[in-house]
Amino acid sequence: MATLELDSITKHFDDDGKTIVAVDDASIDIDDGEFLVLVGPSGCGKSTTLRMIAGLETITNGELRIGDRRVNEAKPRDRDIAMVFQSYALYPHMTVRENMSFGLEESTDLSNDEIAERVESATDTMGINDLLDRKPSELSGGQQQRVALGRAIVREPEVFLMDEPLSNLDAKLRAQMRTELQRLQEDLDTTTVYVTHDQTEAMTMGDRIAILNDGVLQQVATPLEAYHTPANQFVAGFIGEPSMNFFDVDLEGETVVGGGLDYPVSGDVRATLTTDSLVLGIRPQDIELVDAVESGRDVAVTVDVVEPMGDESNVYLSLPDTREGETFIANVDGRTPVEAGDDVVARIPEEAVHFFDRQTGEALR
Ligand code: ATP
Repeated sequence: MATLELDSITKHFDDDGKTIVAVDDASIDIDDGEFLVLVGPSGCGKSTTLRMIAGLETITNGELRIGDRRVNEAKPRDRDIAMVFQSYALYPHMTVRENMSFGLEESTDLSNDEIAERVESATDTMGINDLLDRKPSELSGGQQQRVALGRAIVREPEVFLMDEPLSNLDAKLRAQMRTELQRLQEDLDTTTVYVTHDQTEAMTMGDRIAILNDGVLQQVATPLEAYHTPANQFVAGFIGEPSMNFFDVDLEGETVVGGGLDYPVSGDVRATLTTDSLVLGIRPQDIELVDAVESGRDVAVTVDVVEPMGDESNVYLSLPDTREGETFIANVDGRTPVEAGDDVVARIPEEAVHFFDRQTGEALR
């Protein structure tokens, strides 16, 4: 069983006497065969977490277990993991075949025949049979990445660790490799931890995603849970494209007021609001553009900019000059006839509204 457990893992770095808390008390239980994506903005501690699992970085506090075995002190090669880096890290002077067999020759007592068999099977899986005698400099970026993955596969590890493995590829190849990697992981059924700052990769690839910010784990959830029921305002703003719109509002009786809104809340919703100082969140996809103001949940706005993307458009909206407020984005069907300067009405349906505690960021609804 290759479960992987991070139990209150903390990492401190010393920066000229100042302590940097790169990872703060993170606990994640990763199931056998699960694909877990670690995602978050630059500097949030993703790579440090992965490097601690790999044994490339010591753990300041907490316990790391692979298949119930404490591995805090185990050397990288004794952890039964294989890592794929953003830079591919292939040996430039070796052929593809040598790159793939080298690690096995060094760290296992497999016979030459067994090694050749494993290399062949991995090259079949990755579709790189034609490249075996080439050097890395004779390969495209996508081919190099396949070799790097093949080199991880031949190890037949308990756990794959991947640090932004697709970020050096162009958009089209990245999308193709994304599906290939998912299929590969399903076929091999190997526990995988995958680091990325790209939320599309996180949303499409992860069985679950772990969202980090500033060294602190924000939420571990399926992609859809994180999208629909974010634990806090950070997750709500990080997951989803374009980002969720936020309005700072105060609860005043039966309405929330602020950011240009004067928005009535029903009794059910009001009952979930445990503080008066709130942030109202609404996803651009949930805003409708309509013809006329029919209730307090409709806001008269002006179109600033339209970004057409074919099947859909992002429409940047602001309140009329006479009213101060937030600007926000509606994501609408690309055939919606709107252009810059139009006066329109934005409808904010209550069932799609999220509320957050303005002080703690915690999701209330
Ligand atoms: P990115 O997406 O930019 O690679 P990341 O989420 O992987 O970022 P980490 O590389 O894990 O972030 O860094 C987390 C924090 O720890 C950052 O503040 C970083 O500056 C700091 N850090 C990382 N390595 C060291 C080190 N060797 N010494 C001191 N500080 C470090």
